[in-house]
Amino acid sequence: MSSRPRRSGYVPQEIEPKWQKIWAERGVMKASDSSPKPKFYDLVMYPYPSGELHMGHARNYVMGDALARMKRMQGFEVLHPFGWDAFGLPAENAAMKHPGLHPQQWTLDNIVESKRDLKMMGILYDWDREVTSCMPDYYRWTQWLFLLMYERGLAYRAMAPVNWCPVDKTVLANEQVINGRCWRHPDVEVEKRDLEQWFLKITDYAERLLDDIALLDRWPQKVRVMQTNWIGRSMGAEVDFPVDGMPGESIRICPGVCGEGTQGDRDRAPLHGAGEDRGPHRWLRDQPDQWREDPDLGRRLRAGDVRHRGDHGRAGAR
Ligand SMILES: [Zn+2]
Repeated sequence: MSSRPRRSGYVPQEIEPKWQKIWAERGVMKASDSSPKPKFYDLVMYPYPSGELHMGHARNYVMGDALARMKRMQGFEVLHPFGWDAFGLPAENAAMKHPGLHPQQWTLDNIVESKRDLKMMGILYDWDREVTSCMPDYYRWTQWLFLLMYERGLAYRAMAPVNWCPVDKTVLANEQVINGRCWRHPDVEVEKRDLEQWFLKITDYAERLLDDIALLDRWPQKVRVMQTNWIGRSMGAEVDFPVDGMPGESIRICPGVCGEGTQGDRDRAPLHGAGEDRGPHRWLRDQPDQWREDPDLGRRLRAGDVRHRGDHGRAGAR
């Protein structure tokens, strides 16, 4: 046997730190605002520092890193920033589970640890642009935005029934209530509570948002439908039903007058239109054939253009 030089193989503990040091010294991923190169913005979703990073994070951030490196090699000035979604519910709940430790300490410790992990993985960010949403240098801007909205009447306080998870001890969005239960706690019934709270008047912009989804022609159809349902336009309708054997009498039904309430409410109330027109569709399914056979009824129903066949208009409800 000829004597071949022994391959040392791939020893990550040697190779990785060597190159990571060189990348750091050269500032490989520092994005320059004044660069003449075409710009590429590669934003990954910032993690909740509720604990240490796990494999799901590794997968997510390695993909973003691969893209950033490829774009950089293709000649783009790449902005690949990073930050911490540290006011998120998971981060807050995790911090509360460690009563011996101040939530701030718990959160900041996780950030230090996770940052170390990301650097060990060789993932390159422009760390000069790191943001941490629980720190004043970040939330001063969200507060500034809030004040702008407040001054313009877009932020207001009102009493409203909310979905309340007794485990999370927090309000849940309608989308986080599944069959009357919390999305994170399938065994836990969501409570209805009347709470005074802040609202942002996003409904003022719902129409524009909805219309402009049509412009997102490169988004997957599935995501566009999801966004449309999330906005949840509900036009509502009033339907006058004739009363059998009582000519001239009618009963007015109002399906789809509001988008409030939990998913459970919607399921219990078949005439309650919201989201993907669940109410009207279910209502249609339950109607006699004379209604169902009208192919245009769905559209007219949404447009509030349905009268009962006698067409004696908007007679009083009983
Ligand atoms: Zn919950």
